[in-house]
Amino acid sequence: MPGISRRMRSEEEGTVQCVVVGGSLVGLSAAIALSRLGIDVTVLERSPARAEEGGGGLGVDVALLGQVTGITDQPPVLHGVDRDTTAWHLLQGWLEAHAVRRAGVTLHRRTPATSVTPGHAESASVVTAGGRSHRADLVIGADGARSTVRGAVDPEHPSARYAGVLLWRSMVDEDALPAGVALPAAGEPSREVYAGPYRLVTYLVPGAAGETDVGRRRLNMVWYDPQQRELLRDRGLLEGETIHGSLAPGTLPDPVRERLAQFAAANWPSPWREALELALRDGKVFGTPIVHYEPMRMARGRAALAGDAAHAASPMVGGGFRQGLYDVAALTQVLMATASPAGIPAALGRYQELRLRAAARHVADSERATAAYLAHATQDPGT
Ligand SMILES: Cc1cc2nc3c(=O)[nH]c(=O)nc-3n(C[C@H](O)[C@H](O)[C@H](O)COP(=O)(O)OP(=O)(O)OC[C@H]3O[C@@H](n4cnc5c(N)ncnc54)[C@H](O)[C@@H]3O)c2cc1C
Repeated sequence: MPGISRRMRSEEEGTVQCVVVGGSLVGLSAAIALSRLGIDVTVLERSPARAEEGGGGLGVDVALLGQVTGITDQPPVLHGVDRDTTAWHLLQGWLEAHAVRRAGVTLHRRTPATSVTPGHAESASVVTAGGRSHRADLVIGADGARSTVRGAVDPEHPSARYAGVLLWRSMVDEDALPAGVALPAAGEPSREVYAGPYRLVTYLVPGAAGETDVGRRRLNMVWYDPQQRELLRDRGLLEGETIHGSLAPGTLPDPVRERLAQFAAANWPSPWREALELALRDGKVFGTPIVHYEPMRMARGRAALAGDAAHAASPMVGGGFRQGLYDVAALTQVLMATASPAGIPAALGRYQELRLRAAARHVADSERATAAYLAHATQDPGT
């Protein structure tokens, strides 16, 4: 890919400076892609350390990931008959290792952005906790569904809304399953099962260190639960329709844990049933509230949103990360065609033209699918 570093320079400061807020899947993919254009990228990530564990599984479009980032080696995925899957911590770690070895990419952890000024003719700036201000020609908000950068890009419409569904999630090592439980065959496709008000989605992901052999993989489970508003309210995680966080592993109230274990034992198929019983017993189930954010803008001045910060949808319609990769591809395209830092606000306007309609449609599809699921769930409360 031709670098545009020589063409596109800040007159006084040298290379074009970009700050990416958020060092997860989309932020790191953006950092890698923009550094290939010769842009200096500083990634600000609020979490203190790279996760050795945590998060759940997801499907990955390996070809698209390679096209967008230019990385030619294989990401840590398990090839299924219907899709390639990974665990969030494996893919995040793989992207981070690739990002930090690139000249021009710097990652600061334990560095939450607290406010952003999008700039226009003048530079943008990002202020971090502690009060340090980072000036930049370009700011990318890849800070997830509860984005801070969104407040600068669309101050009239900054918040995602609770979708009415909490996901109970866990990954369990195959070799932790009780003896005699039959393991899924190699290539096992993802499955979805409905019972009462619930929906269970299951698929295999690589083991904790990326293992893919039968017996060393992990069973990934996503259990859709539309009945946990009260729990989220009690925990201070839901205020109005705004979500403030997730339920960490080990924090499920005992009555909820017991009810889920009983339901799993009676309704879910093996070996997912046994895996869930184990995860619930060991405090390894966590709760992710689904939120929707349908974008009305994706850029303002020198700041743009990408990934879940730009468009948050339910995994029910799939492809949230894929949408984020489309964002990064579009950002790369418009910045490649930009001759100077003065042209960045116009380039981000073109980025918004390229992406806004499709991103909004993705979220609208998710809202429709979620409404249909909730209508079904109310008919069968499963008491
Ligand atoms: C159960 C489930 C299954 C899924 N399955 C799929 C799938 O099969 N295929 C698919 O394509 N997608 C899937 N997705 C969606 C996909 O996981 C997300 O779209 C994707 O992970 C979003 O990545 P992101 O980098 O935009 O945001 P996030 O992963 O949310 O990352 C945001 C980052 O920003 C950091 N941050 C937040 N605020 C600040 C701040 N103020 N300052 C600094 N850092 C900050 C956070 O710590 C975090 O690291 C699934 C999602 C779920 C919940």
